[in-house]
Parts: sequence; structure tokens; C-alpha cells
Amino acid sequence: MKTFKEIYSSAENKIAGIGAAPGIIIGEAHLFTKEKLQVSKADIEDIEKAKSNLIEAITKSKKELNKIFLVAREKMDDVRSAIFEAQLMILDDPVLLDEINKRIETEKKSPEYIVDDEISKYQSKMILSHEAYMKERALDIEDIKQRIIRNLQKKRWQSKIDHNVIVVSDSLTPADTILLSRNKVLAFVTDHGGITSHAAIISRSLNIPAVVGTHNSTSMIKDGDEIIVDGFYGYVIKKPTVEQKEFFTEKRNRLIKLQKELEELKDEKAVTKDGREIKLLANVDVSGEIDVVVTSGASGIGLYRSEQILNELGEFPSEDEQAAIYSKLATRIYPGTVTIRVFDIGGDKFRFLNFEEPNPFLGLRGIRLLIENPVMFKTQIRAILKSSTTKNIKVMLPMVSTLKEIRESKRIIEECKKELTEEKINYDQEIQLGIMIEVPSAAVMARDFSKEVDFVSIGTNDLVQYLMAVDRGNDLVSELYQEFSPVVINTLKHIIDETRKSKKPVSLCGEMAADTLAMPLLIGLGLDSMSMSPSTIPYAKRIIRSCEFKKTKRLANQCLKLQTEEEIKGAIEEFFTKNKITRTRQII
Ligand code: PEP
Ligand code: MG
Repeated sequence: MKTFKEIYSSAENKIAGIGAAPGIIIGEAHLFTKEKLQVSKADIEDIEKAKSNLIEAITKSKKELNKIFLVAREKMDDVRSAIFEAQLMILDDPVLLDEINKRIETEKKSPEYIVDDEISKYQSKMILSHEAYMKERALDIEDIKQRIIRNLQKKRWQSKIDHNVIVVSDSLTPADTILLSRNKVLAFVTDHGGITSHAAIISRSLNIPAVVGTHNSTSMIKDGDEIIVDGFYGYVIKKPTVEQKEFFTEKRNRLIKLQKELEELKDEKAVTKDGREIKLLANVDVSGEIDVVVTSGASGIGLYRSEQILNELGEFPSEDEQAAIYSKLATRIYPGTVTIRVFDIGGDKFRFLNFEEPNPFLGLRGIRLLIENPVMFKTQIRAILKSSTTKNIKVMLPMVSTLKEIRESKRIIEECKKELTEEKINYDQEIQLGIMIEVPSAAVMARDFSKEVDFVSIGTNDLVQYLMAVDRGNDLVSELYQEFSPVVINTLKHIIDETRKSKKPVSLCGEMAADTLAMPLLIGLGLDSMSMSPSTIPYAKRIIRSCEFKKTKRLANQCLKLQTEEEIKGAIEEFFTKNKITRTRQII
């Protein structure tokens, strides 16, 4: 049997994109195109009539969006469905409506022209933004603009599909994605959009495989063509050959079988053959979903990237809004614990301050920014405390690089506790506080830092970037971003041993925990728990249950003596072969 790499390197009928939601689907393509609405710049005579047409169109648009919002609420959590709530708010924006009305009066042009022009101005600003998030939001606004114009022209959109198809489209708005998913959609393929596009987020939430950013699928694929969508590797195969079809049918069958086997492990513990239990927790972020956490067999949430709320909402929620989100999370996961990492803003993440930093990764990021903005920090801490009455919430600080930051954060937390006590509001008095170790200074000082807190979690995504001086998102230097570098392995060993000395539990929540190759090494290094994207938990559990702790310790000791990444990876591969343990990609 060929490998994925061999199949793809010889495939001339492949279209490359980004794997946005995992899965393999073979099926019929359905080209989803929306009629391009022509906007007329006609002069108008009856201004009052034009204004009342506008109100009618906006009312109709609101009604449609409300319906979509209800469907979204049924299918997804509140944070995700808030996309539509945000769109509804734009339709209620008095400043925008006033401006459109004023222009209709002064320019005496058709409302559809003014709507198009006025909303396009907003969009251009967003498209010019450096942030992927803002560019994606410009697409959402396109949906509102088109919706109002269509309603002004009294036209309808078709989003009904009557049989199982793969939807291929230029781009999909969140509303399209939701409406189409009510029908029989097998997978999504879009020319535009990235991993953070809402269509991608929604596909992952709904478990529909997706490949986005293919650039030219809509021109290469015809309606009714047979295609293969590979949401793992991010490829679409057009009119597959017999060999390709056989290959992917086999992969799909294996995947279904593996998923069934893994489901059976859901209630089993992640324990090695010789009895060492590793707690498996879930990371919840853009690609995570609370329902998946519950079904994945995780014992709780080890990393809740709270800054994602800001990405979803595009603004800072109030204390009560935050408390509602955290309480819901805590109740849903109970009796499991939820580790809420306070806003990690800055670096490549959500930026809200209107200033550019020359080196954002080395700038005002994570806990540094929160300490500089105590009102924002306190609002979040108060919200977390307010939702901690179920006693299953922990707080975690990102990007800690000095002891002073830990002590100042503790002072702020104490201040919030005191305020709540005075206000007679209940909270968990023993709420645990932890830090992420993701900066070399924190790694070196692990013993002293961990003494100050209740737990430690190693963030390898950043730790590797700062140890190796390699931007984690820069393709040009990705070869140097080595999670298996001896530098990283020895640093992990140092952090784990030093934290042990202060008798505090140590976890790891970087992507490395989701890499099945790393698993035996991480067990052997002595971690107590690991946190990873929920969908990878069953795979990790399977590997842990096939390992012997004493053998993984030997492997770790062997790796600690090696000098290059290649040697370390080689030693782990050998461990897998010698112990007859298969990895996922070898299975499917
Ligand atoms: C990390 O740095 O490893 C981590 C888990 O945090 P993030 O990826 O959100 O920076
Ligand atoms: Mg990090």
C-alpha cells in the first residue's frame, strides 16, 4: 500500500489547500454559487419611498438572520453562535443607518448603491488590517451587505440541497455554512478563507470535513464531478483514478474502524501497562469544542485559551458576560476541572491596543499586558472568581518571565477576592493558581517559580520558539523549529525535575502533547498530565495504554544523551518498532 506522500506526489489531479476540519470524504461536488447582485446607481425621485424600502429590507434581513441565529444556537455553543448576534447588531447600528439615510437624502441615489458604498468602506478598512482575524470579519460583513441589497431587490437565495454532496464554493459566509449544514452536506471546499475563517470554525464544530484556501477549486471542479476531500492533509482530488479511489476508500474505512475502537476507550483510563496514570486534558481554542471535550474522554480542560472569546466577539465582554461564559463552561465540564488561562493577548494573538510593536513576540504580551492594564485583568479575575462556586475552576497565567509578575498577579487576585467578599458574592476561596512555563527565564527558574503557585503547565509552542529563537509562524525558519531538539528535551527534563522539588504537579499543554511520536518520551520524562486538542485524546490514550512506564523512562534517558533532533526522533521511532506500537498515520 502506498503512503499519503506517494499518492500526493504523483497526483496531477490534486488541488492543494488547508485542512480546516479533519476527515476523508469521497463524493459528488455541488458548486455553490450565489448570483452576483448587480447594484444600480440610479437617481431616485421619491426619497421617502426609498427610505421606507430600506427599512423594509433591513427588517427582512434581521428576520432571516434571527432564524439563522436560532439554528446556530441549537447546533453550536453560545460563543460560536455569537457571530450571528454580532451581525444582527450591525443591522441595528444607528450610526450606520443614519449615515445611509442621510446620503439617500443628499445624493438622491438608489438605497442599494448607498448601502453598497457605505458598507464597502468599512470592509476596505478591515481588509487592509494586518490581522487575519479582521480580514475574515470583512467576509462576514459582505454577507450582511449582500443580504440587505438582495432584500432591496426582493430576490431570494437558495441554500437547499436535496442529496448528499460536497459543497464547493468561492467562499462561505457563516450563515451559508450553518444553512447548508442543515441539509445533506458531506464536506466543504472553499477557494478562500483560512484556518480561522468562520466557515472553518463552524465545520470543525459540526464535525464536517473541510479544506479551505484552495484558490481555484471553483474553476477546476464542475458540478457533479466526483471528488475526494482530505481534511487531514488539506487536499482535494478531482475525478480520482481507480488507484486513488481505492486508496482513499481504504483510508476512510480504516478511519471509521479506528474511531470506533477509540470510542470504546472513552471511559478507560490513560494508564501505562505497568500502572502509571497520566491525566489527559483538553485544550479548548478555536479548533476545540466543548461537546468534543465531553465525548473525547478527557478528564477536564487543561487549557482554556480565554483570548478566543475576544476573537469570537471582536470586543471585550463585560464582567457579567465573561462570568456567564465561564460558569457555563464549568457546569458543562463538572466534575472535571477547567483551567482558564487569563487573556494571552499580544504576539501573534488578538491585539486590541492601537499600537504597533517592533517585536510583538518579545513585547507587551500575556501577563505583561494584563499587569499594565489592571482594569481589564481585574474584570477577568472577578468574572472567573464569580463563576468558581462549583469549585472546579483553576486560573493560569501566560508568558510569565519574572517572579515579580507572579507576585503582582497574586496581589491583584487577592484584591479581587477581598472586593467580592465585601460585596457578599460567593467564590471558591481555595481556587488554584498556576503558571505556564513558556519562556526560557521561567524554565531556568522553574523551582522558585513553581513554589509560588499550585501547578505548572509547560507551553512548548512558545518555549520552543524562545529557546531556539525561531518565530513559530515563519515558514522560512520552520526547519529550525525543533520540538525534538536536545535543547528542548533537556529543558523539559529540567522543568519537570525542578517543579517536582517544590512538590507541585506539572503538565504540558503545547502541540507537542498531540504528537503521538512525542508521547513515549513525554511519559518517560515524568509528566503528570498532558493537555491537547480534544480530538487527539483518544489517539494519545491508545499510545499510553500500549507503553510500559519503565521502558519510556529508559527511552527518555537515552534521548537526553543524544545530540541532534534526528537522533532523538530516530530513537523514538525505534522504540515504537521494538515495542510493536503503531502510530495513527501508520494505521490509516
Ligand atoms: C504554548 O505556548 O505552548 C501554548 C499552549 O500557548 P499558545 O499556543 O496559546 O501560545
Ligand atoms: Mg503560548
